Amino acid sequence: MTKVFYRDVKSLYPKAVSAHGMYLTDSQGKQYLDMSGGAASASMGHGHPQVIEAMHRQIDQVAYAHSGFFTTDPQEQLAELITQQFQEANSYVYFSSGGSEANETALKMAWQYWRQKGQPKKVKIISREHSYHGNTLGALSVSGNLPRRRSMDNILLDWPRTKACYRFRLGAEHASEEAYCSYLIDELETLINKEGAETIAAFIAEPIVGASLGVVPAVEGYFSRVRDLCNAHSILLISDEVMCGIGRTGSYFAHQQEGVIPDMVTLGKGIASGYQPLAATLVREEIHQHFVQTEGFKHGHTYVGHATACAAGLAVHTLLLNEGVLENVSPRGEYFRKALKHQFSAHPHVGDIRGRGLMIGIEFVKDKDTFAPIEDAVALPSQIKKAAMNHGLICYPGGGSSQDGLSKHILLAPPYILEDRH
Ligand code: PLP
Repeated sequence: MTKVFYRDVKSLYPKAVSAHGMYLTDSQGKQYLDMSGGAASASMGHGHPQVIEAMHRQIDQVAYAHSGFFTTDPQEQLAELITQQFQEANSYVYFSSGGSEANETALKMAWQYWRQKGQPKKVKIISREHSYHGNTLGALSVSGNLPRRRSMDNILLDWPRTKACYRFRLGAEHASEEAYCSYLIDELETLINKEGAETIAAFIAEPIVGASLGVVPAVEGYFSRVRDLCNAHSILLISDEVMCGIGRTGSYFAHQQEGVIPDMVTLGKGIASGYQPLAATLVREEIHQHFVQTEGFKHGHTYVGHATACAAGLAVHTLLLNEGVLENVSPRGEYFRKALKHQFSAHPHVGDIRGRGLMIGIEFVKDKDTFAPIEDAVALPSQIKKAAMNHGLICYPGGGSSQDGLSKHILLAPPYILEDRH
């Protein structure tokens, strides 16, 4: 009898006993092809000798030193590498242990930034419907993901949300992408004016919506117009790249493909490829300088900048940036999408196969001609996850059951070491 309070209390899980490259093996000797990298985390695949070796070396030197007393080489070097990728290289990185923490950190930075600037009323965070920013209370409060909010909607912080940018399902009646984009920007501006810009601290969005909608990029021009609105109303722009950052979509940051520079970027998952829990909040110099010159930033967890986690992250970044792994993402993604389309496009319930780089979503529909959504009493994506696992394949289910899931999909986010044969 297990004493573990499982994530899904109604499920029994196979026991993973080894993992190498694209595969995990359970205690029965069954192999699973990891086509979702866990939850889009295992960017370098499993058991990579260089990452393991870097962690061993760090554990032998200093496994952990509290960030309130010390800094360490891996923390310094990893921050340097991340900021070198940002358009504003003179930026700063605050490390944490998971994507939710990275977003909590960003929210607190936004609040304290405005408070210390003498604008304590700037507290609201605008987010988007059908978004996901994490499971801690602050991060869940700004998430528009109904299946994940449902059990505690009445106690979460209640801030304004604007519409998701999701032309496939929500914007089809607009004549063009441009018209849809203008409609969304007008809606956002109306919301800002209604709430009052003097009460809004930040706008947070995923450049490519992952778990809530199943890999949905914004229409062209959307983010640059959001950036203009944020500038005009003194609202900080937070780009949540916990899932879509660190090369997942073919560029180091997802926002690079939108032509904008956010004020903060949150990173997680692929940052240390799941070898250690690690995440980061990247901020522009002006925000960091502001804290240097005022009361400082009041925050902190026990494992901020964890040395072994940063060593894993550093090894991942060496592979990604210096050993050609990032260059593999776009071509492998393109091949993979083509192969999926070839195999599944004709299926009566496959409505859309989409994505960027190695972040791919397959959305299911009831009717291919009308794109009518699947109405299922038990969540279809979870059933597909189970069936796939029976066949030795791991894919990530999304969308919940019919009462609150807008898009029923599975997410494929394999390690970047994927080869065409997989
Ligand atoms: N933000 C996004 C976009 C995510 O996809 C996730 C997790 O799926 C999170 C935040 C939360 O990250 P974590 O589960 O590491 O706390």
